[in-house]
Amino acid sequence: MTSVDVLVIGGGGGGYPGAFRLSKAGYSVMMVDPKGVLGGNCLYSGCVPSKTVREMCLLAARARRFLRIEPPNSFFREVQKHKDEVQEIRFEQHREEIEENGTEYVKGEVQVKGPRNYLVKTEDKELEVSARYAVIATGTEVERPPIPGAELAITSDDIFSYRPSIVDLPDELVIVGGGYIAFEVASMLNALGTKVHVLVRSDRALREVDKRLVDMFLAALDKEIDVKFNAPTLAIEKRGSRVAAIYSSGSTKNEVSGQHVLVATGRRPVVPKGLEAVLQLNRGFVPTNDGMETAIPGLFATGDVTGKSTYFHAAVRESLVAAHNIMAGGTMIDYMNLRDIPVAIFTFPPMAYVGITPELASKIGIRLLEVSYPLKRDVMAQVYDERVGEVRIFVDRDNMRVVGGWVLGEDAPDVINEIALAAQSGLNLKDLAEFAGQHPVPFEDISYAARSAL
Ligand code: ADP
Repeated sequence: MTSVDVLVIGGGGGGYPGAFRLSKAGYSVMMVDPKGVLGGNCLYSGCVPSKTVREMCLLAARARRFLRIEPPNSFFREVQKHKDEVQEIRFEQHREEIEENGTEYVKGEVQVKGPRNYLVKTEDKELEVSARYAVIATGTEVERPPIPGAELAITSDDIFSYRPSIVDLPDELVIVGGGYIAFEVASMLNALGTKVHVLVRSDRALREVDKRLVDMFLAALDKEIDVKFNAPTLAIEKRGSRVAAIYSSGSTKNEVSGQHVLVATGRRPVVPKGLEAVLQLNRGFVPTNDGMETAIPGLFATGDVTGKSTYFHAAVRESLVAAHNIMAGGTMIDYMNLRDIPVAIFTFPPMAYVGITPELASKIGIRLLEVSYPLKRDVMAQVYDERVGEVRIFVDRDNMRVVGGWVLGEDAPDVINEIALAAQSGLNLKDLAEFAGQHPVPFEDISYAARSAL
């Protein structure tokens, strides 16, 4: 029996930041993940590889637009190779961080035997581990929809995973789903010349995003992308070397085919075997309080597996919250505030939002003041001729505090951070208006928007 202070189950964003902090503070920490590398699904098959592919697609789109250069046929293969190299660089970086922080990392899988007893299974041995504290950070995995032929479809893992199966650009692709992965993949491959069809089940895409922002995005989305709303997919079938999605449209059945059908209909939680015997789950997710502790004292859960948020940076913060509370001996001294976590969707154009936006404000009864700045007036948008979009800031009318915002446009995922920091820090509109934001970068639009109200 091996004894450790803290067992961290999973090496993703919900796992390693807290593991490192605890190791540095002198705790004995064992972190376990079957991948053998850190970074979880974000690095292995999610945010990092998809962002790499996206940036290369943007480069191709700008080269086409301004240099009149078409990417060569081999471009996507080269992009995929580059993506693997970026992932390798980061795997190596994380290896160094493990050394620097003195955390024990084990390539293996954890099973729960009791509230403080675990079995760590590696390729060649089984280790019984007792831990004063444990953090479940086991994330989520792609879930295929329950429709006939779903196994014929590919998923985002086939494109973005380290050493992916798809390295040739499809000339036609059908995407089933209306969430951010569906629209991100659609945008990227469309930019490289793939004919893309998106089948959205209902009349609403990107459900978690304020409808006004989604409508603005859809109006800006390249018309080459064929988006069908109210088109639930009924089945997926082979058609020679192609694959077809059969969908209903009103009272009729239609089909659309491509080299692949990609399903992007959701992810489901992954929990260590045996957990359900000691803890009640909520639709498979691990419930916690705001201090990231489960109903079992000393047992924490962080990241996607909690069902609170699906974003890496939220998982990182949750991981640190759990670490701080463990360092306080299980007293809750740190809490997660999910509301001020920015969210970015890396479509073309990308969008990002944070905090209270109008749909939520009307639900919770907050009176908002809105200020905005249109992208067509932004210098960089003019430089790249990307003029659709805006920076919009939401202020609580009662105290003029910044409570949220959104940005649509190429720099949205960057610019939103400053609005998020303003909301988290309790800044008011005057603070933003008086800030001399750097010129000429899109961040200056925040102060322009704020000044428009004064
Ligand atoms: P998060 O961002 O919430 O940390 P990720 O999905 O990125 O979530 O990472 C979760 C990690 O947990 C993955 O790398 C996965 O391999 C690992 N994992 C899943 N199940 C187990 C398990 N039983 N034991 C150890 N690690 C696990």
